[in-house]
Amino acid sequence: MPVKINENYLLLKSSYIFAEINQKVNKFQEENPDAPIIRMGIGDVTRPLPQAVIKEFHKAVDEMGQSETFMGYGPEQGYSFLIKDIIENDFRPRGIELSEDEVFVSDGAKCDTGNIQEIFGLDNVVAVTDPVYPVYVETNVMAGRTGPMGEDGRYEKLVYLPCTAENDFVPELPSEPVDLIYLCFPNNPTGTTLNKDQMATWVNYARKNKAIILFDAAYESYITEEDIPHSIYEIEGAKEVAIEFRSFSKNAGFTGTRCAYTVVPKELMGYDEEGNAQAINPLWNRRQTTKFNGVSYPIQKAAQAVYSDEGQKEIAESISYYMKNAAIIRESLIEIGLNVYGGINSPYIWVKTPEGMDSWGFFDLLLTEANVVGTPGVGFGPSGEGYFRITAFNTLENTKEAMDRISKLSI
Ligand SMILES: *Cc1c(COP(=O)(O)O)cnc(C)c1O
Repeated sequence: MPVKINENYLLLKSSYIFAEINQKVNKFQEENPDAPIIRMGIGDVTRPLPQAVIKEFHKAVDEMGQSETFMGYGPEQGYSFLIKDIIENDFRPRGIELSEDEVFVSDGAKCDTGNIQEIFGLDNVVAVTDPVYPVYVETNVMAGRTGPMGEDGRYEKLVYLPCTAENDFVPELPSEPVDLIYLCFPNNPTGTTLNKDQMATWVNYARKNKAIILFDAAYESYITEEDIPHSIYEIEGAKEVAIEFRSFSKNAGFTGTRCAYTVVPKELMGYDEEGNAQAINPLWNRRQTTKFNGVSYPIQKAAQAVYSDEGQKEIAESISYYMKNAAIIRESLIEIGLNVYGGINSPYIWVKTPEGMDSWGFFDLLLTEANVVGTPGVGFGPSGEGYFRITAFNTLENTKEAMDRISKLSI
């Protein structure tokens, strides 16, 4: 018998949106070598790590070179010094109490949001917002929960929750029962948020239906408005039904350094075949201790420095730099009559494409006429068609220049 592959991988859509974008941009640049292209499609930070972080990072690297201070394997769940500071700074001030064994430090929210589905049964019905961060969908495809993709661009067994201008980007409760619900707010790609009441609707749904919410809060630090929860645990009862993912990537520039964490409360329950409640926390602990050997000591030291006074000051400066760009993008595009969403509590601006133009049509227009690259909304799901994502992760100069060029187009 020849070796068999996991055929679920064959169900994945072959063309990856960012590869497609690169291909188009490279071709355009080859044909127009002098075109001063500005890239506003990237979902990656551009400002360097805070000095406070670099200082601790260096110190910890030096410790690794001395026998008295050398560190080998650490706890798979993360060092207590970092977990204590996470609880102390990210949760206690918001009235959320967590114990240390409810926080799991990792090398990324991408891995955690991708791996978490492993501890849940294969016959669970999965719901995702549409448009969506592709990791949630594709890891469930790989696991075999979705079936094939239909003509409409939707996987047969997934439940899609459209988020469009028509519903103010607030997902409606599903009309069929679902078990696992991925929510990401502030949202990538739409840049929109849920207020406390809207989030409570989902928490109450999950409590009533014995479902679990997988809440991605990677953009929490970009929230500027009062009524927007930074953590799902600000909602009463959420600890019984939600796992929360956080990352140092977007707030502190750790995209290339890698550190994140996931909160799995002890109250959170799933059910076995007999209908008995089973705690989820020990399952994730078992998964991590078996498959993961922890984040390196210097990186956890570097992450801890994010919470120092100096670190907090520096990350606030970077975030306000990006958010100034976001405001410029918003205002420029509103000025020329486009419908613009997001960009207030998030570094992403979600633009409705002009009448009669689809996502890729708008992409081509901006590339060829303004030499500005963004991301076609349809790349994030069928309900992203007719939208376009522009990110604030750029220099102020490039942002202004890109908006000047777009403003001169007749749209
Ligand atoms: C960037 C991003 C993350 C962070 O991923 P890391 O692996 O921690 O860098 C998580 N979720 C979403 C939706 C993101 O856009």
